[in-house]
Amino acid sequence: MTSALTVADRAQTVLQRVFGYAAFRGEQQEIIEHVAGGGDALVLMPTGGGKSLCYQIPALVRPGTGVVISPLIALMQDQVDALRTLGVRAGFLNSTQEPAERRRTEQLFTAGELDLLYVAPEGLGTFGVQQLLHRGKVALFAIDEAHCVSQWGHDFRPDYLNLSILHEQWPDVPRIALTATATSATREEIATRLELTGARHFTASFDRPNIQYRIVPKQEPKRQLLEFLRNEHAGDAGIVYCLSRASVEKIADFLVQNGIPALPYHAGLDAGTRAANQSRFLREDGLVMVATIAFGMGIDKPDVRFVAHLDLPKSVEGYYQETGRAGRDGQPSTAWLAYGLQDVVQQRKMIESSEGDFAHRRNLAAHLDAMLALCETVQCRRAQLLAYFGQPADPACGNCDTCLTPPESWDGTVAAQKLLSTVLRLQRERGQKFGAGQSIDILLGKTTEKVTQFRHHELSVFGIGADLREQEWRGVVRQLLAQGLLAVEGEYGVLTLTDASASVLRREREVMMRREPEKAARAPRARRASSGAAPAPDLDPAAAKVFEKLREWRAAAAKEAGLPAYVIFHDATLRQIAVARPGSLAELSAISGVGENKLAKYGQQVLDTLAAS
Ligand code: ADP
Ligand code: ZN
Repeated sequence: MTSALTVADRAQTVLQRVFGYAAFRGEQQEIIEHVAGGGDALVLMPTGGGKSLCYQIPALVRPGTGVVISPLIALMQDQVDALRTLGVRAGFLNSTQEPAERRRTEQLFTAGELDLLYVAPEGLGTFGVQQLLHRGKVALFAIDEAHCVSQWGHDFRPDYLNLSILHEQWPDVPRIALTATATSATREEIATRLELTGARHFTASFDRPNIQYRIVPKQEPKRQLLEFLRNEHAGDAGIVYCLSRASVEKIADFLVQNGIPALPYHAGLDAGTRAANQSRFLREDGLVMVATIAFGMGIDKPDVRFVAHLDLPKSVEGYYQETGRAGRDGQPSTAWLAYGLQDVVQQRKMIESSEGDFAHRRNLAAHLDAMLALCETVQCRRAQLLAYFGQPADPACGNCDTCLTPPESWDGTVAAQKLLSTVLRLQRERGQKFGAGQSIDILLGKTTEKVTQFRHHELSVFGIGADLREQEWRGVVRQLLAQGLLAVEGEYGVLTLTDASASVLRREREVMMRREPEKAARAPRARRASSGAAPAPDLDPAAAKVFEKLREWRAAAAKEAGLPAYVIFHDATLRQIAVARPGSLAELSAISGVGENKLAKYGQQVLDTLAAS
């Protein structure tokens, strides 16, 4: 039995020598010591928080092999390659493997020559893999992306439900489950389903201070996206999320036509194309991935500078997870969402027509409502997000659109009454239901063909809304839908009243609305780095030149090794090297991110590059 002190010492040594980091971040040390000492843990940490070390270091400290259960088959090779460049003995078992390679990995495991073994959850269900694990020594089980066990979540994997066998077959082996999904409901579900109720829970702050949150009114989404990319993220890598496969294809083409290198990713593409596009996104600099939410889980590219949503996410959980893929390196990044009336109509329609029982639809609606509340808030977005995840926060973060360009709230009660009575009159007097466009035309007093055809100019509400512009009326409809004071129904998404509408029509309640600031936030890029991450030093011209030289060297080295560039060294590490200009291997080893193995492998090349520049 190793004493707590030695476990701590050994963990610290591994951190420095293998990973090249000086200090633990946040709760890493406590988690690592707990698991290395044989305890079970449930770890909730935001993306980029540093979850991997929480199981990798205990696996290195404890005798035997750490077995990592991960649904991310397509990323296992990359994860294993990254560990091998650190000098960690890693391997994986999944269905994509050649039999010979599989046998070799199995032999290494039984011979005790693996520090870490990645296994797909479906593999663990098979007798063969279980038998294999019994033939070797398991140091710990790490259950990555543990929210996949949640049946309510959109990442549900049935195979995760079988993971309780770990506890039954290896009662003495510690288990650590990790996820970036934060709600307490999901946490409870994970603990119950994985039989981790006795485990220690570690919940980190979910704040991602380096991400700037912005939600803009959707007008001409393509033009808005292009402007955003050109003005703020020229040359940056990022992800653009769209709801449908068709819009993914369309937007990717549109960006390419406009000179922005972009690739599509959705479940309709064949596996080969998907893998190739993912691999290019990870390996090449400055690519934009246009994708459905099928893309992104486990993508550990640290320098994704923006995540843009062209369609409304279905839940705050989804939004937070997707936007969380930006800025894992702690450097300033943007989460940008364009949101409009049509999004609300579409999502409400989808819920209405979704399969599943009433409880299921109600659950979907509750998730959408929380997302809509985030879009329509006049408060700090970050404060609202953190409140959703049950975490205290400052009332104003200074790094979201509402903090940077505060929107006004205005009393929209009269406008709401005008709109609702238009819907009411159409329904009562004419027995008709129309979409938002027709009601707005009536309020504005427009004599369109459709207005004339249905004699809507004869309605008493015709023209009573001329005090607001069309765009403003769309905002009114959107916010009434968001607040549940109006509903859409049917295939065409026609407007209809809800039980709550009556109280507005009877003047029993006020309706406060958000007025978009005249000049929507094109916010200054706040230079806030997340805690623990090395802040980006603003490089002076000489250092910037050296940094570019180092990047060139890294690109060549990455190509030769067939690895993503960031696996060799992160930008943050190269920046520090460019500033410090170490003259010896010993000096180089003091830089964060330079462990022993990388020093031996690349140290001399870095020094040569420095000498030549
Ligand atoms: P997560 O899995 O929680 O999203 P990762 O484990 O990928 O996060 O870590 C995010 C980044 O932070 C990685 O690049 C990792 O190398 C780095 N990192 C983690 N822990 C530390 C630390 N103690 N010091 C410096 N960098 C760290
Ligand atoms: Zn804010």
